[in-house]
Amino acid sequence: ERERLQRLRHTPSVTLDGQHVELLANIEQPQDAAAALAVGAVGVGLFRTEFLFMDRGGRLPGEEAQYQAYREAVEGMQGLPVIIRTVDVGADKPLDKGHRDSSLNPALGLRAIRWSLSDPGMFRTQLRAILRAAAHGQVRMMFPMLAHLAEIRQALAQVQLARAELDARGACYGPVQLGAMIEVPAAALMVRQFLAHFDFLSIGTNDLIQYALAIDRADEAVASLYDPLHPAVLRLVADVIAAGAQAGKPVCVCGEMAGDAEMTRLLLGLGLRSFSMHPAQLLSVKQEVLRADTRKLAAWTQEVLAADEPALLIAAASP
Ligand code: PEP
Ligand code: MG
Repeated sequence: ERERLQRLRHTPSVTLDGQHVELLANIEQPQDAAAALAVGAVGVGLFRTEFLFMDRGGRLPGEEAQYQAYREAVEGMQGLPVIIRTVDVGADKPLDKGHRDSSLNPALGLRAIRWSLSDPGMFRTQLRAILRAAAHGQVRMMFPMLAHLAEIRQALAQVQLARAELDARGACYGPVQLGAMIEVPAAALMVRQFLAHFDFLSIGTNDLIQYALAIDRADEAVASLYDPLHPAVLRLVADVIAAGAQAGKPVCVCGEMAGDAEMTRLLLGLGLRSFSMHPAQLLSVKQEVLRADTRKLAAWTQEVLAADEPALLIAAASP
C-alpha cells in the first residue's frame, strides 16, 4: 500500500472533474522541507516557527538565527511557496516544558499573537527575519489566534514598522502576502472583516474545534467529545470556505482535518482547494482527491451539513 501511494508522488493533484487541488505540507523545522518535497508537496502551508523558540531555557532566538532558519526552509523548498506562521507558543506548546503556565486557562491566556503583541520589540525581531527570508523565495506570512480587529490592526502595523526598520538599515527583504489563521470561533463568525484585511486565510481546525466545543484539545478526559464532525464545527468551516470563495481569496485548512483522508471528500464538497498537512498524510489525501468528482459531491455535502449526526454520513459510502 505504501509503495502504491508512493507512486502518486508526481501525479498532479486533480479531481476526476478537473479541479486542481493544492496539497501542502506542515513543517516544524527547516530540515522538514526535504520530507515535504519527498511526498510531492507543492509548498509549505504551515511552518510552525514556535519550535525554534521552545526549550531554550527562556532565551529566544535572535533575528540572525531566525533569518537563517527561515531562509533554510525557503531554499529547501526550491522556489515553492512557504507560509511562515509567526510564533504560536502557549497552552499545548509551552516555551519551556519544565515550566508550567500558572494561569488557570492557558489555552485562553497569553498565547500566540497575544504573546507576540505583548512584546512588540520581540515580535518585530521575528517579522524582520521573515521579511529578509522572503528575499530568497516565495514567502507568505500568517498570524495565529487572531480574534479582535484591534489585533489585526496592531499586527499589520508591526509589519509596517519592521519594514521601516529594515529600510532604515538598508537591509534587503522581499514581498510577502499576509494571511490570518481562522482558529477562534469569533474569527470565523467575522470572516468577512478578516478577508478585507488579508490576502489569504488558513483554518486551524485543531484550535477551532477546541474553542467552538469548549474541549481542551490536550485533555484525555474529554478526548471523546473532541469532534471534528460536530455540526457547529462544520458550519464554521463551511462558512469560512464560502466567504473566501466569494471574496476571491485563497482559503487553506492546515489543522489535522486536512490530513484525514476520511474528510477529504467533505472538504472538497465544501469547496476547499488547498490542504496543508503532515507530509506522512499527503499521499493518502491525494489518492482521495484523484478519486473524487466534485460535481457529484455537492448534494451529499449539503446533506452532511444539515445532518444531526454528520459522522454517520461520512462513515457510510459517499459519492
Ligand atoms: C490548528 O490549530 O489547527 C493549527 C494548525 O495550529 P496548531 O495545531 O499549531 O495550534
Ligand atoms: Mg492552532
